[in-house]
Formats: sequence, structure tokens, C-alpha cells
Amino acid sequence: MLADRDAQIDAEQVSGQHSVWRDVYRVMRCPGPLCRHDGQYCWQDPESKRHHRLKTHHLKALVKYVERGGVLDTHDDVPDSLREQLHAEEDLRHEKRKKTPDSSTSNPMCPPIDINVLPAGSS
Ligand SMILES: [Zn+2]
Repeated sequence: MLADRDAQIDAEQVSGQHSVWRDVYRVMRCPGPLCRHDGQYCWQDPESKRHHRLKTHHLKALVKYVERGGVLDTHDDVPDSLREQLHAEEDLRHEKRKKTPDSSTSNPMCPPIDINVLPAGSS
């Protein structure tokens, strides 16, 4: 993955577009606090504050957007088309998760019981 990305950046540098890529990567680096995507590239939804992982094709779309004269200074500048795409992919993931029963999640029917037995009547 990482090597792929480096190769891609090299290729872009040859064609003279390296500064756009660099800007996009700089802006879209996970703004933190570090999320489950582990320091990768994220778009933080300004409304829900949720992190959406950005893959290479998302970043590529952003580079295209900037090359066409778009401005990408903050996560608020992410174009609607990409937001919609990220939201759609997020929905897809949720649907997949619903279909596969996940036994590793804690049982909501079983609240943690606070066992706190005090020695009673010792005095
Ligand atoms: Zn993140």
C-alpha cells in the first residue's frame, strides 16, 4: 500500500503535479485525535465530526478538484461530490456489518454488574 502510494507520488512528480498532491496530502492527513484509521488520511465531517477514511482514489479526486481550480485549505473545502461518495461508502459498510452477525460485540442485554460487597454487620 505504502509503496504503491510512493510510486504514485513519484509519477506525479515527474509530470509536474507534485505540489498539488503534497497540498492535498497535507490538508487531508487525519486531523486527530488519532482515530481508528491510525494516522492515515481522513476527511472529518464538519457536521458529525466523524472521520471518513480517504483512500487513494478519494485523494486522486481531490487532486483533480484542485487542478481544476478548486480550493482545498480545510476539511470544509471538500467538494460535495466527494462527501456524498464517502457517505455512500460508509452506508455500504454499515449494511454489510448488519448482515454479518458479530459475536465480538458486547451483549447490550447484559449490563455490567457492579459487584461491591461490603463487609456488613461486623461491628
Ligand atoms: Zn482520522
